[in-house]
Amino acid sequence: MIGGLTPLSTSDYPGHLSAVVFCQGCPWRCGYCQNAHLVESSASPNLKWRTVLDFLERRIGLLDAVVFSGGEPTLQRTLPGAMKAVRAMGFRVGLHTSGAYPQRLASVLPLIDWIGLDIKAPFDAYESVTNAPGSGSRAKSSARLVMESGVDYEFRTTMHPTRLDGAKILTLAKELVEMGAKRYRVQEFRPKGCLDETLLGRAATSTTEAISEEINALFPNSN
Ligand code: SF4
Repeated sequence: MIGGLTPLSTSDYPGHLSAVVFCQGCPWRCGYCQNAHLVESSASPNLKWRTVLDFLERRIGLLDAVVFSGGEPTLQRTLPGAMKAVRAMGFRVGLHTSGAYPQRLASVLPLIDWIGLDIKAPFDAYESVTNAPGSGSRAKSSARLVMESGVDYEFRTTMHPTRLDGAKILTLAKELVEMGAKRYRVQEFRPKGCLDETLLGRAATSTTEAISEEINALFPNSN
């Protein structure tokens, strides 16, 4: 089910012009979610897949890639077929995922050229962000699968001062290094799209700046 389409993006697939297909529905409930309108699976679809394909056919030669984002794209049973369809049109395939469904992720990895995997927190503290029991072990399995697949990837963490402080981010970053991760980035919480009023107006900038040097030293290939 499709919740929206961004016709042109310069930032959702590194180094390439992309269209972004937003999938409706997510099993987790992160308070800072920027796409809160996409979380409920029961919402009415905004677009038909045929409409998206018609749009993409008109963009062959103009766009490099199609990124499946959300919500959580791997929630969609039709995701493998959709990825095959856009590959057949000559587009690169990107995926933004939380890693909530490791087995489904494993099944689509051979169809993906680049993946952005959100890492929410140190794996043993995941529930404090996602409000979903067991989410940390699922995300850890997905992170391992991504690294073993050979698919180009980026791990990234959204930082909000009420959810993750600098010490927790550094704990997580070191955990990722031990797992063999090469590319990792910390991004600041952005209030746009967030429905949790208690999280608004709390900037993470100073903390992000304070740890950026240490993060860069742990992941020299990320920049
Ligand atoms: S996993 Fe992503 S889409 Fe789902 S609630 Fe969290 S931030 Fe929103």
